[in-house]
Amino acid sequence: MIRTLSLPTGREIPVLGQGTWRIGEDPAKRKTEIAALRYGLELGLTLIDAAEMYGEGEAERLVGEAIAGRREDVFLVSKVYPHNATLSGAPAACHRSLRRLRTDYLDLYLLHWRGSVPFAETLAAFQALEEAGTIRDYGVSNFDLDDMVEGRDLPGGEEIVTDQVLYNLARRGIEWDLLPRCQERGIPIMAYSPLESSPREQRVLLTDPILQKIASEYEATPAQIALAWALHQGVVVIPKAGSREHVRENRAALDISLSKHDLKELDRAFPPPSEKVPLAIR
Ligand code: NAP
Repeated sequence: MIRTLSLPTGREIPVLGQGTWRIGEDPAKRKTEIAALRYGLELGLTLIDAAEMYGEGEAERLVGEAIAGRREDVFLVSKVYPHNATLSGAPAACHRSLRRLRTDYLDLYLLHWRGSVPFAETLAAFQALEEAGTIRDYGVSNFDLDDMVEGRDLPGGEEIVTDQVLYNLARRGIEWDLLPRCQERGIPIMAYSPLESSPREQRVLLTDPILQKIASEYEATPAQIALAWALHQGVVVIPKAGSREHVRENRAALDISLSKHDLKELDRAFPPPSEKVPLAIR
C-alpha cells in the first residue's frame, strides 16, 4: 500500500507516482513503456502524471492504453497548456485529454505553467470543470510563492490543491519559502524531475560520492536514495521510468527510511538554500 497525503479538499493523493514526460515519443519503445506503467500499477504506483504537452498527446494516448480496464485504480493527473487555459479553451483541452486517456474524468487537472491568460479566468474554467464532475481537483505547476499567494486570493483560489515544481537533492530552492508555506496550509507539493531529467545533470547528481556511499550502505542505488530523500521531505514524488527495472527500484525507494545521520550527510553534499532563490523551472 502506498502512503498518501491529504489534499486541501479532502481527497488523498499517493506520495509516489509515475511521470510520463517523453514516453510515447518513440514507437520502438512503446511496448516496453506500456509494460513499465502497468507494472507500476501492479506495484501500487497508481498516480500517473501526464500533460497534453507530452509528445503533443502521445503520452496521454499511451497512458490511456496502459490503464485500460483499470481506470478506477488510477489517480490520473493531466495538465493544460497555458495558452489553452481560457474559459472555453480549458474545457476543450480537457476533453481532448480525456479522449486520449480513454476516460471521462481526471483526478487532478493542473495549469502547466503561468502564461498570459489571466489566472482568474483559468480558475473559473477549472471550477466549472469541477462542478461538471469532469475533474475532481485542480491545481497549478511552476508557480512560485508570489504566484501562489496571488492565486489564493482569487475566486476558487482556496481550492488549489497542489503546486507541481522541480524539486530534488540538487534543486532545493523551494525549501526557503514555497515548501514550508504550502505545507503550513496543507497543500502538498508535487516534486517533478526528482532524479533530474537531463542525462548530464542526472549523471552529476547520481555520481555524487556521498550519495553513492549512502546508497551502498543501504544496498540501494543512488537513484533510490534520491527518491527516499524527496519522500522524506513530505512531498509527492513522480519519477518517470521507461523500464520495469527502474519502476521496481523506484517503488522500493518507499521502503527506505534514511537515518538522521544520513540526512545530515546529504545536507552537507546538497546544502539547503541559505537565501531566497528564483523557482527552478525546466
Ligand atoms: P525524472 O523522473 O527525475 O528522471 C527521468 C529519468 O530518470 C529517465 O531518464 C529515466 O530513465 C531515469 N530513471 C528513472 N528511474 C530510474 C532509476 N531507478 N535509476 C536510474 N535512472 C532512472 O525526470 P522527469 O521525467 O523530468 O520528471 C518526472 C515527471 O515529472 C515527468 O515525467 C513529468 O510527468 C513530470 N514533469 C513535470 C514538469 C512540469 O513542468 N510540471 C516538468 C518536468 C517533469 P528511463 O526512462 O530509462 O527509466
